[in-house]
Amino acid sequence: MTIAIPPHAPHPWFGVEDDCLTIGGHSVVELAIQAGQTPFYVYDRGVMTRKVNELRAALPREVHVHYAMKANPMPAVVRHMLGLVDGLDVASAGEMQVALDAGAAPDLVSFAGPGKTDSELTRAAAAGITINIESEREIRVLAAIGARTGRRPRVAVRVNPDFELKTSGMKMGGGPKQFGIDAERVPEVLAAIGPLPLDFQGFHIFSGSQNLRAEAIVEAQQKSVALAARLAQHAPGPVRTLNIGGGFGIPYFPEERLLDVAPIAANLRALVPQVAQAMPGAQLVLELGRYLVGESGAYVCRVIDRKLSRGHVFLVCDGGLHHHLAASGNFGQVIRKNYPVVIGNRVQGTERESASVVGPLCTPLDLLADRMNLGRAREGDLVVVLQSGAYGLSSSPRAFLSHPPAVELLV
Ligand SMILES: *Cc1c(COP(=O)(O)O)cnc(C)c1O
Repeated sequence: MTIAIPPHAPHPWFGVEDDCLTIGGHSVVELAIQAGQTPFYVYDRGVMTRKVNELRAALPREVHVHYAMKANPMPAVVRHMLGLVDGLDVASAGEMQVALDAGAAPDLVSFAGPGKTDSELTRAAAAGITINIESEREIRVLAAIGARTGRRPRVAVRVNPDFELKTSGMKMGGGPKQFGIDAERVPEVLAAIGPLPLDFQGFHIFSGSQNLRAEAIVEAQQKSVALAARLAQHAPGPVRTLNIGGGFGIPYFPEERLLDVAPIAANLRALVPQVAQAMPGAQLVLELGRYLVGESGAYVCRVIDRKLSRGHVFLVCDGGLHHHLAASGNFGQVIRKNYPVVIGNRVQGTERESASVVGPLCTPLDLLADRMNLGRAREGDLVVVLQSGAYGLSSSPRAFLSHPPAVELLV
């Protein structure tokens, strides 16, 4: 049964049995016992598998799908994803190590992110992964490593495009940015790379994240391919990979709906021959984090205290923004909106009420649901925040107020 939380989009991935939420076929009450504590995160590997398989079925065969690990770097999740996708994108040497420990072949791993330290660049070069160059300093450091070791580091040039992904949740390209090398400077950078001891792989163009409008993604992908085709004329060698980013969003908030990937797939089908013509032999890569894992996860905490303050119900829980900053609205939201939240053991409930779900931190920012219509909860009940498989635990200020950590389960 689909979980209905109007005005949120229906959640087709988890079930309800005896009014209890089920994840991967397990009741959330049983999962809390298995976890040994609340709060905890639980991720459903079956959902990840279906998301990847459904996307691959829609996309042209030539398009490679990579998993951007920072969305959810839990090692067990990374191992599971590795079996489903064509490569992993990491954003630090720490993530690189998790990817390699999971068994990823180095030539399937790429490393993007500003401010890579000399140590990170040295480690990445030694591992033989592809490094997406974000600055001229990185070129200098990597060329010195190549000269010193006699082994040419594999590099791709990350381009800060001269356009933006429209209506994107987070803009990561266009205008002045700390990411990548400005498109207009790339030709001279490519000329500089030519004679250096570097193994040129191609381009990386990532323009944004969390977009639910297919037309905007289509437009960004068309512009990315056109930009890469122009830059390829200046490349010091064949373009082997063209990574055009991702930006695919999932519905979090009231009135948001699922992204329609059909027009994106149709557009990619048209782009594949263009890429083949302008960059023969180049692999076209999409890198996605949130879209592949975001819907698979839930954050579960327990109601410690049910309080009435001037007619308003507060469910005070043992979890909050220290484990789930994004659900509190403090991770890139301009106006705070509610994530989909249910009482896990009273999804419908015999009665319903308007209640706010808050955490134990001494700040009014610690809010997981603001005046939401929920099954009437009692102390000891479980509060579940859906759409929590990406940018959950790892992007939260876990040390803030020194409460116990959350655990993570993959089922
Ligand atoms: C964060 C990031 C991604 C993943 O973005 P999602 O919105 O989670 O799909 C992909 N590529 C790069 C370079 C990133 O920094």
